[in-house]
Amino acid sequence: MKIETLAVHAGRRIDPTTGAVAQPIYLSTTYERDSDGSYPRGFEYSREGNPNRAALETCLAALEGGKESLVFSSGLASVTACINAMEPGDHVLASSDVYYGMRMVSSKVFAKWPVETTYVDMRDLDAVRAAIRPGSTRLVWFETPSNPLLQVLDLGAIADIAHESNAICVCDNTFATPVLQRPMEHNVDIVMHSTTKYINGHSDVIGGALVTKHGNYLFERARIFQQTGGAVPSSFDCWLTMRGIETLPYRVRGQSANALALAEYLSTHPSVEAVHYPGLETHPNHELAKRQMKGGFGGMLSVQVKGGKPEAMGVAARTHLFIRATSLGGTHSQVEHRASVEGRNTKTPQNLLRVSVGLEHIDDLIADFDQALNPLRS
Ligand code: PLP
Repeated sequence: MKIETLAVHAGRRIDPTTGAVAQPIYLSTTYERDSDGSYPRGFEYSREGNPNRAALETCLAALEGGKESLVFSSGLASVTACINAMEPGDHVLASSDVYYGMRMVSSKVFAKWPVETTYVDMRDLDAVRAAIRPGSTRLVWFETPSNPLLQVLDLGAIADIAHESNAICVCDNTFATPVLQRPMEHNVDIVMHSTTKYINGHSDVIGGALVTKHGNYLFERARIFQQTGGAVPSSFDCWLTMRGIETLPYRVRGQSANALALAEYLSTHPSVEAVHYPGLETHPNHELAKRQMKGGFGGMLSVQVKGGKPEAMGVAARTHLFIRATSLGGTHSQVEHRASVEGRNTKTPQNLLRVSVGLEHIDDLIADFDQALNPLRS
């Protein structure tokens, strides 16, 4: 089935007791045993599983074309679940333009563990090969397009390199979503999402997910982290996320079309130094993006204005429609001075604004950016 159909049907069924079309929200923490002590209805205790979480996990596995999925209380809880699956002495290889929270998990949550994470520019496949430590690299982690530089990485080539040394390959597919890109079709083993972003899509749930292509030890350990470690989302959050998913394909395509038009406008503006958007023909990996993304290039772009931090902050301060806030993937447009969020050690340029393009009319969005940029001309 096509993704529009899966988004509306996967994981859903008419409630057998009442005929309710929308799934009820199961707030119960515990479920009744039969007289023989068994749980014939499949649920025992809500941390271990409940109908709303099961529905969301089924739906996400279908959207990504995977075997199974696990949902977590945040995107970073799903990152933590993966690194937690490592053994002492294991090595994690991650792409250099990875979401900064992934770096924080590696360096802060796992600071005392003997699991080392190193970073490499994965646009350079020879550098990826050279950075693999045979026998100890167990996990290869990357995102494409990346946050915040919108670099595009070769899904299939990186998965092949990981597999040559028996490492598990995980792709953070938060920016692209399964609407535009399905990493498992390129042999990636596990797809990770911050469902906080496009998957839920309405800026009202924090959540994360892992979807696996096949059975593997990392996914099984992540399941233990979820169910026994307790990194679980609430039933209500699962329900809201399912509701958001119903419109996912249409939202993402609308946001992608707006982002392309805004990127094209920005790339001609005299006060703009650079626009990072994989849909632009001038993007260094545009051809690769065209090959592995279908139906659009996503709703995220970054723009470097002429000048430094004050000029970038000034543009963000003058926007009316673009809300100055962190996060992304909601129906409304947002703008963020990324280096300020990432803190002192950031590698993100000080003149860069990251933009999450929403579903407003594109003419209004361009007009808003235009009036915010124009004072820089003088
Ligand atoms: N991955 C990407 C690409 C993100 O942008 C984010 C959050 O911004 C995360 C992971 C972390 O997700 P969460 O904030 O849901 O923990």
